[in-house]
Amino acid sequence: MNIPPPNAHQNVLTADANIPPIRQINEMQMEDFAWATARNSLLQTLDYLEAHNLETIQGRLICDGCHQITVMETNIRQHLDQIQNYIVQHTIDLQGLAPMPWFKPNPPVCQLCKLNYLKPVLPPDMAHINWLFLFCENLIGFCSVKQLRFFLRENGKLNYNKSKQRLVYDMFREIARQLRPTGPLHDLL
Ligand SMILES: [Zn+2]
Repeated sequence: MNIPPPNAHQNVLTADANIPPIRQINEMQMEDFAWATARNSLLQTLDYLEAHNLETIQGRLICDGCHQITVMETNIRQHLDQIQNYIVQHTIDLQGLAPMPWFKPNPPVCQLCKLNYLKPVLPPDMAHINWLFLFCENLIGFCSVKQLRFFLRENGKLNYNKSKQRLVYDMFREIARQLRPTGPLHDLL
């Protein structure tokens, strides 16, 4: 099985030591959710986003080593193309299971303490999770089963009997399909 394109995590915008540590995250201004429809778990299409000059997305990561927040910005189309192409090419051999780099992604390296201890900020309110950022940066595997089930249930795609590895695969497929509703993933379903 081929491995999905490596995730470089090279687009760090800021690693600001002045941003408050994790205890205060709930009070912080969270990410920009212009990518969401009226419902957080239903994404706008890529056409809509690009028509509104939303070609990149920012997200926040927290370091388990130094407890500081890093803001990362990433291109949407580039990652969608990679993920969509991978799913189309490997649908049969994946058999509904997320490949290991999706299921258990390597934590990105923190630019402040140089340890690979970064993980995405996942707010307690699941309606405030930055799903598109998690998708683009291959961070969905950091979500709990409860969080994955929340997104899939909201979209009518939840099967309670599935393992986490299958739920992660379903998340990638569903988000890619929402971004390109008439793309090749539509025909796969
Ligand atoms: Zn750190």
